[in-house]
Amino acid sequence: MGEFDLIERYFKRPQGTGPGSPVALGIGDDCALLLPRAGTQLAISCDMLVEGRHFLPTVSPELLGHKALAVNLSDLAACGAKPLAFTLALALPEVNANWLQGFSRGLFALADAHQCRLVGGDTTRGPLNICITVFGEVPVVDGQSQALLRSGARAGDDIWFSGTLGDARLALEVFRGHLSVDADTFSQARVRMERPTPRVELGLALRGIASAAIDISDGLLGDLSHILKASQVGASIQTELAIAMLGARTAVTSQQALQWVLSGGDDYELAFTAPVAQREAVHNAGQQSGTPVTRIGHITAAAGLQLLDGNGVALSNTFSSFDHFQ
Ligand code: ADP
Ligand code: MG
Repeated sequence: MGEFDLIERYFKRPQGTGPGSPVALGIGDDCALLLPRAGTQLAISCDMLVEGRHFLPTVSPELLGHKALAVNLSDLAACGAKPLAFTLALALPEVNANWLQGFSRGLFALADAHQCRLVGGDTTRGPLNICITVFGEVPVVDGQSQALLRSGARAGDDIWFSGTLGDARLALEVFRGHLSVDADTFSQARVRMERPTPRVELGLALRGIASAAIDISDGLLGDLSHILKASQVGASIQTELAIAMLGARTAVTSQQALQWVLSGGDDYELAFTAPVAQREAVHNAGQQSGTPVTRIGHITAAAGLQLLDGNGVALSNTFSSFDHFQ
């Protein structure tokens, strides 16, 4: 099968270019053409997945298709952007029909769930590598972008996160043979690692409510520190509130749980800040989007990230986040 048959068979679908669609032209020409609505900004983000680094060689292609798009949609969620379309650059070691079928099934299932259309890409032979660029839409109201940025946190704001943290790391430790847990715990954590849920609806519901947001891919503390730096503020975190959300907390020591919740990575949840006056609105946004939200601390005027245990005693902050070059 040649490159063009492959694209035709596995990636080209009805293009959904009808009236009201943000896609004016999809796969097949030199460029795709998008039609952002008047009064909106285009939000763009790109994430690459490399075998052995971002996923295990044994992962099913369907889950990989899901995850490749999910990590990109998670970036749109963190900006409060509504998904419109995406492109897919794919390096494949060989043409494997089973793999391509599974991969495209997982990819399109998630794409369809968010009405996000594949409008182009590139296909080449090489070590397995998946690079997706997503395009989303953010309204501009009274000349002001409604995008959620990292730079909007203010002293006194609450700090929140969505869903649960640490489960993906727990599953990874089991895969690596460093930990054994009961079958139920493992299967729940494994879903979180292999099939992350991008919090798109929550991101949309938080527009006009959250003051800053980021998605948690490298660990809560590491990603939160990006908000602190961009907003030139500090934070105080109550660690036991974060641990309470780790589904498998009873299966590991509290030190391990703390480590994974604070810096495990691969969670694809949102960390965000909001003024105290917005607490009820945040809870409503969580409910409206079917996403649990947990308040774990507050923003401080003084720089630095302070961790407090259940008794309000300061913990030393030795939780480093993931960095590909360290
Ligand atoms: P070009 O030579 O202009 O780079 P290609 O021959 O690579 O174009 O691709 C032909 C068409 O197929 C283009 O519209 C391109 O966007 C699309 N395409 C290529 N690979 C993929 C892919 N993996 N998924 C979706 N569309 C793809
Ligand atoms: Mg090309």
